[in-house]
Amino acid sequence: MSITLYNTATRRKEAFAPLDPDNVRMYLCGPTVYDRAHLGNARPVLVFDVLSRLLRHEYGADHVTYVRNFTDVDDKINATALARKAAGAEGTLEDLVQERTDETIAWYHADMDALGAMRPDHEPRATQYIAQMVAMIEDLIVKGFAYEKDGHVLFRVRAYEAYGALSGRSVDDMIAGARVEVAPYKEDPMDFVLWKPSDDALPGWASPWGRGRPGWHIECSAMAYELLGDTFDIHGGGNDLTFPHHENEIAQSRCAGHGFARVWMHNEMLQVEGKKMSKSLGNFFTVRDLLDQGVPGEVIRLVMLSTHYRKPMDWTEKKRVEAEATLRKWADIVGDTRSGDLSTDVLEALSDDLNTPLALTHMHRMAAERDAPGLSSALTLMGINLNASDKPDAEPALRDWSAKLAAVRQDAMQSKDFSALDALKAALVDAGVEVRMSKTGVELVPASGFDPAKLDALQCPALASPSSTPRSATGSSPRVCNSQPPKSTSLPKRSTRLASTISRGAGRGRTRPTVRSSTHRPRRAPRSRPLA
Ligand SMILES: [Zn+2]
Repeated sequence: MSITLYNTATRRKEAFAPLDPDNVRMYLCGPTVYDRAHLGNARPVLVFDVLSRLLRHEYGADHVTYVRNFTDVDDKINATALARKAAGAEGTLEDLVQERTDETIAWYHADMDALGAMRPDHEPRATQYIAQMVAMIEDLIVKGFAYEKDGHVLFRVRAYEAYGALSGRSVDDMIAGARVEVAPYKEDPMDFVLWKPSDDALPGWASPWGRGRPGWHIECSAMAYELLGDTFDIHGGGNDLTFPHHENEIAQSRCAGHGFARVWMHNEMLQVEGKKMSKSLGNFFTVRDLLDQGVPGEVIRLVMLSTHYRKPMDWTEKKRVEAEATLRKWADIVGDTRSGDLSTDVLEALSDDLNTPLALTHMHRMAAERDAPGLSSALTLMGINLNASDKPDAEPALRDWSAKLAAVRQDAMQSKDFSALDALKAALVDAGVEVRMSKTGVELVPASGFDPAKLDALQCPALASPSSTPRSATGSSPRVCNSQPPKSTSLPKRSTRLASTISRGAGRGRTRPTVRSSTHRPRRAPRSRPLA
């Protein structure tokens, strides 16, 4: 089915045609990791998670590369670390920065996992790509698009004629908007920082311009180039990033000679009860606040997806209550039904610029028609996992099978015999497990109809004790048995459990039983070069 997407750069919906259908490439600007993700931060994650699922459905699970960065060099992070040091925390400033960013990334993963968001194929941290940023900045200086002054390197905005095209602003309008900082080291107030000096009290890296740290914008240009190549398909983010962040990314990358992103997608912002979320209004909360209050992750996901991504999303208590009732109803209808054929209506809706509210309308109709298999498969495509709240015991079993599947897959890649891999995947799907495979790893998630008894039934000689079965030393594919019908179901019906979980409001400390075995693997070895 053809996909159309609204492109901010052209201001119209366009038929999506990837550069390489075997490797559809997408970049999303990720969080600055200094604190818990607030609810608004979750919106782009969920929007682009659905897009990633749709692309994987259309082009194949292994034919999409999704990158979302972590900004782990930032003045807010430094301020947090300095405050901890001042409060007597032990370790160097670098240690405290690392501690803070590691801790925040772990929170972020736990919170986004709870919302059912698949982790991207690559989650680069800015601090791992300093050398690439320095190389790009040097190149921009050589080409005349950047200059050094007093330890700073600045991008010469007026040297790039198309600056402002994405957001539809002229340079002079932007200056009039007073969103630019005037500084003595700037040739022009519009020029933005590529590199800035660090004193001894701040984290810094050696560079041709002295010890310093990169500006924010250059990191996305450098990491996208490193992981997705010169030109890639989709770049996403919240629409608050259009200017200056995305304008600056485009300027840097185009002036460095890269094609950069072809389709730009921006989600609208989130409000709470009709008002902008802000600490001063007292309506500011994090994803974890909601989870800890007992709002299941799938409820947050359903509420978010009930509004089209290009419209402002209003989080209301009424919507939360309605979403809980909907999920209870759907859980009752789906029961243990396995996925059937995916509804063309749902697929068409998502393929039309990710029309999630229309897809949900179709799902309500399917529920009214008691189309359990259709509803189940639509829920899977939308990433709504009715089991997410009530399967703490799924995790150990799936972790074992995830490791086993990864091993079988590696053998298959080497031997080019995929029969054992296909058989194992089919057996897992038959046991109600959603199998997600990407270039960097495999992930198993309990889907509608997850049945641990069927997993047990997979324990025939070739697959016994998955965690203890070593990979075939010879590299040949291990044998795979067909699954046997379960003799009994060891868990109560999921629908009952979801309903009771929601009505109790229990949710503290729950995490979605997601298992993954992915590692960060850059497409190319990072270029190593001396910084000094
Ligand atoms: Zn970015």
